[in-house]
Amino acid sequence: MQENVTGMVLKSSPIGEYDKRIVLLTKEYGKISAFAKGARKQDSPLLACSQPFTFGKFAVFRGRHSFHINAAAVQNYFTGLRSDLDGVYYAYYFCEIADYFAAENIDGLEMLILLYQSLRALGLPSLDNHLIRYIVELKMLAINGEMPRVFQCVCCGSKEELSYFSIQKQGVFCKSCGEDTKDIRISEAAVFTLQKIINTECKSLFTFAVSGQVLEELRNVIGNYWKNRVDKVFHSIGIWEEAEKGLL
Ligand SMILES: [Zn+2]
Repeated sequence: MQENVTGMVLKSSPIGEYDKRIVLLTKEYGKISAFAKGARKQDSPLLACSQPFTFGKFAVFRGRHSFHINAAAVQNYFTGLRSDLDGVYYAYYFCEIADYFAAENIDGLEMLILLYQSLRALGLPSLDNHLIRYIVELKMLAINGEMPRVFQCVCCGSKEELSYFSIQKQGVFCKSCGEDTKDIRISEAAVFTLQKIINTECKSLFTFAVSGQVLEELRNVIGNYWKNRVDKVFHSIGIWEEAEKGLL
């Protein structure tokens, strides 16, 4: 039976001479693997829709082992972003993260909205790509139930003077509980930003900017928390970081 799913292409790989295997994040079934017959032929109607980070509606048929894509109506190729190398690396990275967290038969809607909105945000010159990255990382952890506790002190429960972030205890400490620890000192504005990322719906997440100091704090806190929670090296961001350091 053929059905329509809404989703985004996370990655695609060639199979045989003319075909492709596509991994899609869908609203309906979470992450699915789909076979796109003839998608590598120049005149194939599936040629364009099988590129990574293509968003749209896909007509799929469920086979015994995998889905088959019969047709696609692309709604967004994110063409603005494709001309910007920096943005493209981040887009690949966000797709890699979604591929890591998503599974088949989950409700993929939240993750799909996060991915869609983050790719849109990468195309906007007003937003810093580093900030978009930290928002995506923290929100992806939050969607998957692995967020840090940032609304009250993990030790005494106080909501006042939250001044330290502990990677090990996975949350914030107030000034008096955190004083003797060697945890990360964190500003009120940075705590507020962490709370805001966790509390805000994905569709409204990419609407604010932060100071350079807060951005640096987010890099430190979210970067280290991420490394602590996610046991995987992501190739796309590794390549990009080396390029940024001038190593390539
Ligand atoms: Zn406390």
